[in-house]
Amino acid sequence: MSSFVNLLKPLDLGFISLENRVVMGSMHTGLEELGDWERIAEFYSERARGRVALMVTGGIAPNFEGAVLPGAASMTTEKDVDNHKLVTKSVKENGGKIIMQILHAGRYAYSDKAVAPSAVKSPISPFVPEELSEDGIKKQIFDIVETAKRAKQAGYHGVEIMGSEGYLINQFIVTHTNKRNDLWGGSYFNRIKFPIEIVKQVRKAVGSEFIIMFRLSMIDLVPNGSNWEEVVLLAKEIELAGASIINSGIGWHEARVPTIATSVPKRAFSWVTKKLMGEVNIPIITSNRINSPEVAETVLADGCADMVSMARPFLADPDFVAKIYTNSSKTIVPCIACNQACLDHTFSMKLTSCLVNPGACHEKEYRLPATKVLKSIAVVGSGPAGLSTAITARKRGCEVTLFETQGFIGGQLNLASKIPGKEEFLGLLEFYENEVSRLEIKLRLNTKASASDLLSFDEVVIATGVVPREVEFKISYNSRVFSYIDVLEGKAKVGNKVAILGAGGIGFDVAHYLVNSETSSTLNLQQWLDEWGVVDPQEARGGLSPNGPKVVAPTRDVTLFQRKSEKIGRRLGKTTGWIHRESLRKKNVKMVSGVNYEEVNTEGLIISYGEERRDVQRLKFDSIVICAGQNSERDLYKRLKSRKVKTHIVGGARKSAELDAKTAIEQGTRLALSF
Ligand code: NAP
Ligand code: SF4
Repeated sequence: MSSFVNLLKPLDLGFISLENRVVMGSMHTGLEELGDWERIAEFYSERARGRVALMVTGGIAPNFEGAVLPGAASMTTEKDVDNHKLVTKSVKENGGKIIMQILHAGRYAYSDKAVAPSAVKSPISPFVPEELSEDGIKKQIFDIVETAKRAKQAGYHGVEIMGSEGYLINQFIVTHTNKRNDLWGGSYFNRIKFPIEIVKQVRKAVGSEFIIMFRLSMIDLVPNGSNWEEVVLLAKEIELAGASIINSGIGWHEARVPTIATSVPKRAFSWVTKKLMGEVNIPIITSNRINSPEVAETVLADGCADMVSMARPFLADPDFVAKIYTNSSKTIVPCIACNQACLDHTFSMKLTSCLVNPGACHEKEYRLPATKVLKSIAVVGSGPAGLSTAITARKRGCEVTLFETQGFIGGQLNLASKIPGKEEFLGLLEFYENEVSRLEIKLRLNTKASASDLLSFDEVVIATGVVPREVEFKISYNSRVFSYIDVLEGKAKVGNKVAILGAGGIGFDVAHYLVNSETSSTLNLQQWLDEWGVVDPQEARGGLSPNGPKVVAPTRDVTLFQRKSEKIGRRLGKTTGWIHRESLRKKNVKMVSGVNYEEVNTEGLIISYGEERRDVQRLKFDSIVICAGQNSERDLYKRLKSRKVKTHIVGGARKSAELDAKTAIEQGTRLALSF
């Protein structure tokens, strides 16, 4: 019997039956805005074939003022209905079920036409929204109802009404953003009239046999958010108004508590959803940081919800659920919650994809046809670039031999996995190990391939990665200087007062490692909740502790240095940079930019400022860690270029600057598709 009995149990909603308990949550991919509806249909159909019970589309605006930004997808015309029909038809033909999310951004709309219950600017938008008049409120409800009717006309199985994450509906519910004193503000009953009216009127308009999922903010994580009594009351009213399912929303977008980043513990908020179980009679869905069948099953077995919603895991692997049915869950490509190719792309106005699966949102381009000629391929280096090349080439039928100088695969992924808060990389490494063995890739560990070893292959791929950059400043004999590799591999005895030279991704990682040596709060939910000041919303409004975050002393006194005079950490991930900066701030990490490194000696570090090298300072440190970037390791490539073998170069070996796992995996996969 499958060990995923709860996850694979069907759910009967009376008028429709869902095959299992897994929902693909709403994601904004940017595909809708491209207007290529066949491509959108393919995105959802691929996931429908992967047997997820129910999918929710990205947010679709009910009108111009509700769009997240001008030009964002909306459902306001017959043409829109026709476009969406392509999606629903294809999804149904592929055995899937799909509902459309209606998203009114309210004051989160990036536009001077933004509207909200009150003219309260959000900290994440430069625009002050216009306060809605009574007629304006009725118009918003009308538009949402019309959009739901159009969704039905377009063939959707239902709609999700986005009532959480701080969007318009949520803005009406809490006093943080609703300062009105008319019938739509003031008392809690007045403030929840807006969502209740919407659900009532949508139900009336679409009839009884149409899913209405309401995404309800279970824990706002903003000051003056809802308390638990209010959450329960709203859930009951939403059920009475005619909703079929309640989905969980966790935290507003402006919340200063991370809710989905990789450093958030797994299933960090399922305890909140669990509190609502038994309070309503309709199914409840939980979400956030659930990315494996094991975690999802445990959440259900623990009675935290009736269904589990995952979003990004379906970018990483469209066949997530199908692989559970076929007992091959070990082959699920794991989403590591990095946000690098999904949310960071969205917020940079780029099409969404996925770091571990560059085929996400590029379904047709990344199909895996078998190779026409059986080729033998040598891949040298088993970091992300080499692994993705080897695995993709092997899946296409090539004979692949993978050379690795170390006794284990993974390259720089091994270093990333040592960082507190990046434990997901261990799961990714485990996945790659399984794939290399399952696909029978010939693995030559502890082998430094020479040019002559490679001449008999049809094609050779050099993925030898990078070596730490040599620095130009003077380092005196006997100074306690370490490379980040020595530190992360545990070979360096780092003292208590540390300078990190270089504040790129690795400088930040090393700082996390050095100040959190005792434990990783990502592996200890209570510690993590304390560190971010999160409590039960029954204890405090919005789930924010009145005492604020709990200070846990750092294990070392660390200073991060950078030569550029810009703000340190400015180039980190769009959606995660603030978390890194805030986490280090909590650990009293000092950040100094705009410096020249003059010398490192046995006393510490000498720095100066500006071109004229003024304000020379002698700073005492007992350890200096160099995180000054990397250079490509290309020796083997150069030697092979003069020989008669077709040679390619990918990843850090090709270009070290600003290279990360996302680019490495994309390059490797694309190369292997060309064999
Ligand atoms: P990096 O991001 O290029 O940062 C290297 C740092 O060293 C820079 O801050 C640079 O800043 C400094 N530097 C460059 N040349 C120097 C020199 N000659 N002497 C002294 N300092 C010098 O490289 P990285 O931190 O090693 O990271 C490598 C790649 O992995 C990057 O693409 C990074 O984005 C990626 N990564 C990403 C994450 C993530 O969380 N997304 C985590 C780790 C790594 P100044 O010149 O201004 O001092
Ligand atoms: Fe998950 Fe990262 Fe892929 Fe986004 S980019 S889906 S967070 S693995």
